[in-house]
Amino acid sequence: MPWNRPLIIGIILLLLALGWLRTNSGDTEQLRRSRLMMGTIVEIVASGRDTDQLELAMDDAFAEMSRLDRLLSRHYQDSDVSRLSRSSKGGKIAPETAEVVALGLDVARRSKGAFDMTLGRLKALWAVDRENPVVPTQAAITEAIAGIGIQALSLEGLNLVKQSPQLMVDLGGIAKGYIVDHAVAVLKKHGITNGAVNAGGDMYLLGQHPEHPWRIGIQHPREQDGILTTVQVRDKAVVTSGDYERFFEQDGQRYHHIFDPETGSPARGCQSVTVITDSVALGDALATSLFVLGPQKGLELLAEYPGSEGLIVAADGTLHPSQGWADYQSAP
Ligand code: ADP
Ligand code: MG
Repeated sequence: MPWNRPLIIGIILLLLALGWLRTNSGDTEQLRRSRLMMGTIVEIVASGRDTDQLELAMDDAFAEMSRLDRLLSRHYQDSDVSRLSRSSKGGKIAPETAEVVALGLDVARRSKGAFDMTLGRLKALWAVDRENPVVPTQAAITEAIAGIGIQALSLEGLNLVKQSPQLMVDLGGIAKGYIVDHAVAVLKKHGITNGAVNAGGDMYLLGQHPEHPWRIGIQHPREQDGILTTVQVRDKAVVTSGDYERFFEQDGQRYHHIFDPETGSPARGCQSVTVITDSVALGDALATSLFVLGPQKGLELLAEYPGSEGLIVAADGTLHPSQGWADYQSAP
């Protein structure tokens, strides 16, 4: 007889297993929610089998992001950042604020001041976001960068010390990333293992998409809706800083929102920088730093951060990937 019992049992077990797999992958649903926050659209995607659990997790993650935004944004009068900017010598800050500032100070030191959380007055002066921005006078720029830099801010426990009263703190280059990290932590606490949080280019990809690994298209800096390249990641932060989102043009020159603290003007070396690393806060700070440093010095700094890779689009449009970048690159 061609059919023997073990073979038939084997086939039945296989069919049962396939059926089980189908029902269960069919049960997995992916929910997507977005809110306008931190001056951008923040999107959370989460997948799992329990819709109520997913909804609750996403609500909690959004609530955590608003809580932190109220602490770290200059748009709230009572935020730590606003209080510090108004104070003459600094003052007590929340543990979360101290955590972001400590990371920012470390990146500031390692980037030799390219990353600078003390250029709040310069940002207010340029105001690239306002209705009709114009290039400020050199005198105004010089005045706005007086006294800024690594030495201008220090942390003593939960006490932030300002060296000069007029110094304005600006966490715009790092806070969004830090806040996204916290949202991801909330999702994980709710048992979510597959999902993503994206705050306008500062994102974390947790686990994978229900059917395949996460594949992320990196925005082309000069082609609207164009994709520069695609990366494939799992449990990683992917952060992009570019000169194409907030900018104005005057006399044929583009003026954007990432400043070179040395000149007090928008950094000139890059069109965009993407960093892949383990935390969005670090990715955010590094992307901004690399943008200021330009391709060569930027990649040198990145090499000092093990497990971090990046792709720089230089001002002339040439691509400068870090050594291990190709490991993440995927077919589009
Ligand atoms: P985005 O917030 O658009 O994603 P970035 O992360 O590069 O882009 O942050 C840009 C913001 O960072 C600016 O709006 C400003 O608040 C702040 N910033 C600008 N230049 C610097 C700098 N050299 N170091 C640190 N922060 C900076
Ligand atoms: Mg940044």
